[in-house]
Amino acid sequence: MSEGLLHHVEIYVSDLEKSESFWGWFLNELGYQSYQKWNKGQSWKLGETYLVFVQTETEYLDVPYHRCRTGLNHLAFHASSRERVDEMTRMLKERGMKILYENQHPFAGGEDYYAVYFEDPDRVKVEFVAPSP
Ligand SMILES: [Zn+2]
Repeated sequence: MSEGLLHHVEIYVSDLEKSESFWGWFLNELGYQSYQKWNKGQSWKLGETYLVFVQTETEYLDVPYHRCRTGLNHLAFHASSRERVDEMTRMLKERGMKILYENQHPFAGGEDYYAVYFEDPDRVKVEFVAPSP
């Protein structure tokens, strides 16, 4: 146990099936294992941290998520290398996913910051970033 590291993050999603499909694929690529699964949600765990995705109740679906509003803007994950960022970028494109800031890719975060940015099914921004050189 490392005090202070994130224990878990829980995110409500508008369409659990779509989110499970995307996050299941992406997190498995990163080495996460399916952790908990029930009819309203699923989680995946790596080390001592897990991410939980839960279906939003119908009565709260009227206001969609927007990352520019107050609240979560994005989630960033460590990549093991720049090559791994490139590989992930290829896989995302093969899955038909939109790469954000593509005209600046892979330096949209600045020079010496090598990352790919994309969106989950609710348009939560996701970042996959290589170690600093
Ligand atoms: Zn970031």
